[in-house]
Amino acid sequence: MGTAASTPRLICPGCGAAYGSDHRFCERCRLPLVLDAPELVVSDRHGRARKIKPQLCQGPLVAVARAGNQPEAEFVQGLLLEEGVPSLLRRSAGFDVPDFLAAGPRDVLVPQSGVDTAREALLAAEIITDAPPGAARTPPVRLLAGLLVALALGAAIVSLIYALH
Ligand SMILES: [Zn+2]
Repeated sequence: MGTAASTPRLICPGCGAAYGSDHRFCERCRLPLVLDAPELVVSDRHGRARKIKPQLCQGPLVAVARAGNQPEAEFVQGLLLEEGVPSLLRRSAGFDVPDFLAAGPRDVLVPQSGVDTAREALLAAEIITDAPPGAARTPPVRLLAGLLVALALGAAIVSLIYALH
C-alpha cells in the first residue's frame, strides 16, 4: 500500500509493463516504451494490457496504415487493440510539423505477427483498401503523365505561335 518509491513513467505498448525513465525498451517484448499518458488511468491501462494477445506481439514493427493526424491515429490504435493487436505511432517521415502539434500524418506500426490481424481489422473498417502497395502509386504517375502532356501541348502551341509570325 502507499505510493511506490519510484513512480513508473514509461509503459510497454505490448504488455503494459511499467518501467522507470532509465529504460528504453520492454525487457519482455523488446518494444520501444512509450510515455505513460497522464489521462490514462491505471484500470484503463490494465484493461488495454488484458486485451492484447501475446501471440500478436512478436517480430519487428511493420507499418500497416497511415493516419492523417494524431487523433485519427489513436482511433486506429483503439480499433487494433479491440482485435488484440498492440500498435505504435510514428510521425511519418518527410513531413516537417513541429512536435507539439497533433497535426501531420502518423504511421501506425504493429509487430510482424500482428500484421495479418491488423490488416483484416483495417480492411473491415475501410481504413485501408485491398489494393496491393504498388497500386497506390498510380495516381501520382498519372498526374506526372498529365503534366508532361500539358508541357508538350504548351511547347507545341508556342512553336505554332512562332511559326505564324
Ligand atoms: Zn512488454
